[in-house]
Amino acid sequence: MPNNLHNLTIHEARRLLDRRAVSSVELTQAYLERVQTVDPRVRAYVTVTAQQALRQAREADVRIVRGDVSPLTGVPLHLKDNLCTKGVPTTCSSRMLEGFVPPYDATVVERLRSQGAVFLGKGNMDEFAMGSSTENSAFFPTHNPWDLERVPGGSSGGPAAAVAADEAVAALGSDTGGSIRQPAALCGIVGLKPTYGLVSRYGLVAFASSLDQIGPMTRDVTDCALLLNAVAGHDSRDSTSLPHPAPDYTRALTGDVRGLRVGVPKEYLGEGIDPDVEAAIRKAAQTLEAMGASVDWEVSLPSTKYALPCYYIIAPAECSANLARYDGVKYGYSYQGPGTMWEALERTRQEGFGPEVKRRIMLGTYALSAGYYDAYYLKALKVRTIITREFQEAFQRYDVLLTPTSPTVAFRLGEKTADPLQMYLSDVCTIPVNMAGLPGISLPCGLAHGLPVGLQIIGPALGDGTVLRVAHAYEQATEWHKMRAKA
Ligand code: GLN
Repeated sequence: MPNNLHNLTIHEARRLLDRRAVSSVELTQAYLERVQTVDPRVRAYVTVTAQQALRQAREADVRIVRGDVSPLTGVPLHLKDNLCTKGVPTTCSSRMLEGFVPPYDATVVERLRSQGAVFLGKGNMDEFAMGSSTENSAFFPTHNPWDLERVPGGSSGGPAAAVAADEAVAALGSDTGGSIRQPAALCGIVGLKPTYGLVSRYGLVAFASSLDQIGPMTRDVTDCALLLNAVAGHDSRDSTSLPHPAPDYTRALTGDVRGLRVGVPKEYLGEGIDPDVEAAIRKAAQTLEAMGASVDWEVSLPSTKYALPCYYIIAPAECSANLARYDGVKYGYSYQGPGTMWEALERTRQEGFGPEVKRRIMLGTYALSAGYYDAYYLKALKVRTIITREFQEAFQRYDVLLTPTSPTVAFRLGEKTADPLQMYLSDVCTIPVNMAGLPGISLPCGLAHGLPVGLQIIGPALGDGTVLRVAHAYEQATEWHKMRAKA
């Protein structure tokens, strides 16, 4: 049996499982042991489901013997804790959902389960996915495996840290304004936000429904394609789910970018971007150029600067509506003291939600209120259309756009908690992509200050295959995906 069993990609694990060099039970045990050793320091997991994992692994081993195998069969995965898992607590890292045990699986979970994947547990996150550092978790912060004094990014900080620290082979996260890509960048792994509508959100606890997407967080781009294959495609239970079946994304991994047109929008470089991060992005573009792509450095997307302010109208507006359901009546936290029904409702929300969630609900309620709706919400929607059109025009001239994922490398725990605006700025490069519903991937492209830098590749709507193709070709030509955190 190979000795460093907890250090695998999906495709490496697949090969070992299929050759019977290792069983899924052995693999799962190795990962559970790794979690036991490392997680007291990293704190990526809110819940570890060891018994369930071993049961799934035993079932997977039976399937493997039978030859009834798909790419994820027997592979231990990690799930962000806003994905509903039947019989397993789903908290969104909020007191409000403490003790909530969903009676059903999210579609993505159901699909992975039916393919024989193994679930190691649920990942820590910013409460209700609101944040960029995982410090808004009501339970505890997660630590970056590269430097335990630093944040893993957010809101999918648990999944990113789990994959970076070898506490799972791969993970699923969610991305409303960067929550897959930014933590992937800060932890030195690969994270993809698919085209809006490509992956069903049925069973994803809603934050901002016009922006939320689920996507893979993995060690390399091949894994990203494999995990996307496993979860993408139409689902009648999500009305925004696109009607067509998803293609096989591994077919996009040709290693070839010759003749591809790459644009580097200037609004994503310069002011506010760490010069060392910028240098790594420029170098990545040159690498693609040397591989036969044409690179245009003069691209301009002038409305980029409006994406962040518009997001902070639209996302809170939708969140205020989505989170209105938490009233303590049917499930989740419920204030049980004396008082009227209305008092109980108020106390439930006062005690169940943390400060950032309350801030968002208040911002959103304000932006939607009579008299302000036109001035804020409606205006933000109009600007969103302009941003989307600007991208559409750019994609007539370029196949993909290249930007940094995050303006900085991982920052210190506590560094930005006192200043929400600084925290929000962490997603200045990722948010425009959600606003326009586009696919975007982050992958490692270097080190700055000894910490990983993420390269963001953005494609046109349904250009997920192109994004994966460019990312994969770049990965083949470089060694960055082989970097390992020390935790
Ligand atoms: N950091 C952004 C926010 O706080 C994005 C979060 C996300 O993508 N879920 O809203």
